[in-house]
Amino acid sequence: MNTPWIEKINLSPDIDFPATSFFIGRIPNLVLPSNRKEAFIKQQPLHRKIIDTLFPSKDRSSKIPLVYADQCHGSNIAIITPPFFETEKREHVDGLMTTHSGVILSITTADCAPVWIIEKKGRAGALIHSGKQGTELGIVPKAIHQMKELFQIDPQDLILTIGPCIRPPCYEIDFAEIIRMQAAEAGIGMVQDEKICTACHLERYYSYRYEQGKTGHMLALLLLHNTATVTSKEKEIF
Ligand SMILES: [Zn+2]
Repeated sequence: MNTPWIEKINLSPDIDFPATSFFIGRIPNLVLPSNRKEAFIKQQPLHRKIIDTLFPSKDRSSKIPLVYADQCHGSNIAIITPPFFETEKREHVDGLMTTHSGVILSITTADCAPVWIIEKKGRAGALIHSGKQGTELGIVPKAIHQMKELFQIDPQDLILTIGPCIRPPCYEIDFAEIIRMQAAEAGIGMVQDEKICTACHLERYYSYRYEQGKTGHMLALLLLHNTATVTSKEKEIF
């Protein structure tokens, strides 16, 4: 069985925290084209199948809407508001932010850091792609600032989680550490870091650098929810 690597991300110390998050890693034995766009297209239907299993819709005939970012290692962040569609692409953004439940945010990575920023009660959440360039551009502090400006969220009420990404000694720049410092400077309440290096665990992750570009995409996912969007099946699983 080519069981993909899937990990549940603990966003908050509160076990009843009203959001769900996953990171989908390597899909073993999946032969991918060397072209990055083609690899993405090949993985997309597989990813969607996994997402639908992880986030089952209450209504079997429909899927929970999904937004993904057409990333460019920049610092633009899209604010996701209704109407929602089954699948929606946002062009030229490296961050997605919402206050709405019922829409899955999705970011792809392959060494860069997936960063979840959530309000401690689940009122708002953001998913950020911050690699070398995004970190240099300060996309994470920008997201914290936007949450404050747009939704009046005190940075003290935010919890930031850094997922699997490439780290020293596999990479010369410790951008996870830089993100942590940027978040602290922005006044964030709590930072969690799994401290997992993608290049050190190729059985679980793809590493763009270690595999010299001939690699797949991993998916970071975030769904804020209220009781209306949590199905009984989902409750059983988690
Ligand atoms: Zn490593």
